[in-house]
Amino acid sequence: MVLAQLGGSISRAIQQMSNATIIDEKVLNECLNEITRALLQSDVQFKLVRDMQTNIKKIVNLDDLAAGHNKRKIIQQAIFNELCKMLDPGKPSFTPKKGKTSVVMFVGLQGSGKTTTCTKYAYYHQKKGWKPALVCADTFRAGAFDQLKQNATKAKIPFYGSYMESDPVKIAEEGVERFKKENCDLIIVDTSGRHKQEAALFEEMRQVSEATKPDLVIFVMDSSIGQAAFDQAQAFKQSVAVGAVIVTKMDGHAKGGGALSAVAATKSPVIFIGTGEHMDEFEVFDVKPFVSRLLGMGDWSGFMDKIHEVVPMDQQPELLQKLSEGNFTLRIMYEQFQNILKMGPIGQVFSMLPGFSSELMPKGREKESQAKIKRYMTMMDSMTNEELDSSNPKLMNESRMMRIARGSGRHIREVMEMMEEYKRLAKIWSKMKGLKIPKKGEMSALSRNMNA
Ligand code: GDP
Repeated sequence: MVLAQLGGSISRAIQQMSNATIIDEKVLNECLNEITRALLQSDVQFKLVRDMQTNIKKIVNLDDLAAGHNKRKIIQQAIFNELCKMLDPGKPSFTPKKGKTSVVMFVGLQGSGKTTTCTKYAYYHQKKGWKPALVCADTFRAGAFDQLKQNATKAKIPFYGSYMESDPVKIAEEGVERFKKENCDLIIVDTSGRHKQEAALFEEMRQVSEATKPDLVIFVMDSSIGQAAFDQAQAFKQSVAVGAVIVTKMDGHAKGGGALSAVAATKSPVIFIGTGEHMDEFEVFDVKPFVSRLLGMGDWSGFMDKIHEVVPMDQQPELLQKLSEGNFTLRIMYEQFQNILKMGPIGQVFSMLPGFSSELMPKGREKESQAKIKRYMTMMDSMTNEELDSSNPKLMNESRMMRIARGSGRHIREVMEMMEEYKRLAKIWSKMKGLKIPKKGEMSALSRNMNA
């Protein structure tokens, strides 16, 4: 995703500062100027960026920091906190409860990705054991019902709509009624989008809302508009009770950071982001794990969520136990590669792992990375059990590496490269040592732990 560029620039600035022998005013200013430039390029509002810079300078008073204080850590933490503050609307969103019927209405301009997002949202919940249903109350755009029908059929989600009826209010009402009777616990109503914020669109939204009494109204917005998201989100909020926002197309636009911070400034919580056209290119948006990932620190909560989703139930406790022991053996790396290859859109998973994100798995080069992982696995197939189960990289001397290279038909250089990768990951993994193993639903506590 393009946001990776923003994250890359910020973490590079922090890294450069960390490399300096002495951290003085000049070094700090250079670091902050780099971050400012990166945020402005991402279309973050100037005032937000300026406030952030002022706040960091206030927190990090170099003169007051006595020798012995870890200035780098304090600065990094201040940057992390300020970025979180910039994206935090200070208000949680209503979350539907499983087993209890909730009606969720989607609103947004045409082309924002509303219909696609409705299905992604339904699909996401279906995978988590909900019983969702889709109602197409978009009678304005020709083909809207067909699109929803096609998506819903693919995801095996029940849907309701009409080719004949032109009154969106009637369709919405009937659809919601029907799915309530069928005991669906998440009824999603897609409404019409127009090209601009015109009065007729808002009036129709209000009427559908009155008829269906939604528990949550989600406003869908295209990230390419950057900081203009502020005005758009405000306009929708004034016409209908928007409870949450989903920002789409975060994969393709440099202005994603601007859009996210602008929405937060309207005090509307962003709950998901769209990161591609496919059904599962959709991610929960949680400020701290997001910033952590942006800075290359990993998103443990997202990763754990994926583990619960993909790793077979009976293997989960063992894997988490191994992680918490902090001993990252080559066998664990092998098993992780197996899981990663199973996990579907590989980029999503990788970007959640600290250390894995940019180096091993750059976005847009998934195929290459997949091939690399398979190559590593072939080499590991030529290792002995002793080698796989040891967490001591010194064991892998040159003659062992030569043998592995011969056995797998690869060059010794590639075995060495894999061992370097292993060492890098083992170092990151060691941070997991002593970590409390989370149960389902305890993910945010874990991420707080990791970010502390
Ligand atoms: P609507 O008019 O708001 O209902 O928008 P659609 O759902 O029809 O989406 C408009 C276009 O945006 C379609 O081509 C979608 O495939 C595309 N789209 C939606 N969400 C995303 C996303 O997160 N990333 C990308 N790259 N494209 C998206």
